Amino acid sequence: MSRYWSPFVHSLSPYVPGEQPKTDNLVKLNTNENPFGPSPKALEAIRAAADDKLRLYPEPSSEQLRETIARYYGLTTEQVFIGNGSDEVLAHIFLGLLKHDRPLLFPDISYSFYPVYCNLYGIDFQRVPLDNQFAIRVDDYLQPSSGIIFPNPNAPTGRLLPLDDIERLLRMNDGVVIVVDEAYIDFGGESAARLIPKYPNLLVTQTLSKSRSLAGLRVGFALGQPALIEALDRVKNSFNSYPVDRLAQVGAIAAIEDEAYFEQTRQAVIANRDWLTGALKKLSFEVLPSQANFVFCRHPAHEGRVLAEALRARGVIVRHFDKPRIEQFLRISIGTEAECRQLIDALTEILG
Ligand code: PMP
Repeated sequence: MSRYWSPFVHSLSPYVPGEQPKTDNLVKLNTNENPFGPSPKALEAIRAAADDKLRLYPEPSSEQLRETIARYYGLTTEQVFIGNGSDEVLAHIFLGLLKHDRPLLFPDISYSFYPVYCNLYGIDFQRVPLDNQFAIRVDDYLQPSSGIIFPNPNAPTGRLLPLDDIERLLRMNDGVVIVVDEAYIDFGGESAARLIPKYPNLLVTQTLSKSRSLAGLRVGFALGQPALIEALDRVKNSFNSYPVDRLAQVGAIAAIEDEAYFEQTRQAVIANRDWLTGALKKLSFEVLPSQANFVFCRHPAHEGRVLAEALRARGVIVRHFDKPRIEQFLRISIGTEAECRQLIDALTEILG
């Protein structure tokens, strides 16, 4: 706190990110990174681009990367917006498309950045409760709003809303923008991107941080009809026209083009998720059905916080949220086979 701060800054409650430890000797299952590393072709492309051209500014509209993404989803370049991680893309969406005179709707248990952006940009919001199975109930979103946003699969629950339900939501709310945050979609769901030609109010966001294992490169994107994308360009160009650097552009293109590596690592994450889910259930955990690269689980007899601390003491970091309704839960990112085993061994010891 400082007397130099504006009253507005005093009023902000910023996002609290998961721990990024300074040592390498921990089993890090707390921020949903991919345990398998980026495509070797992406690394090669980044190394090859680290040359004298770095003295030049990058191409401001990321044309080639947008073309690659458009081709991948069967869309046009005008339907793609690129940002420095999907968090930045979301920031532009909140400011450019979701700030109206009615409240924005999102699930009460969801990505904790949404209320942070609302407070930053002065957007009124309303949290819509998940049902008792922690699922989104589409009918609850039938009320006047400035827009709707939710992760699919939802975070931190991992639960997927089927495309039919998303389509119903789009039809019921054709006057407002619906943002489907697909940070985790590649681990088990079908992208809503194929609905874009049919629904002018649909915006899909994705990231290369999870299924492409490039969280350190900071590339995210939004897909939608050109009218929505144009609004994001306006906001972006009002801040800074170079959000994605030269290395990020070439690395992202190579990663998206390496379909074989993507498929192989995606399947490995899914297989480890299945194994981990079974192993947690054997230890009496309740595990929500996850289509993401993490599981959300609770033990009937042990506090989430206590378990997270006991795991930390044994060198395993998982995520615990001190929030109503989910304080009993742990969110555990899917690691390599060895990491998942270490977690289960540590839990077996803790639970006695
Ligand atoms: N959306 C959701 C639901 C997330 O969990 C995350 C990662 N914390 C993001 C978006 C942002 O990811 P990134 O900025 O790395 O693209």
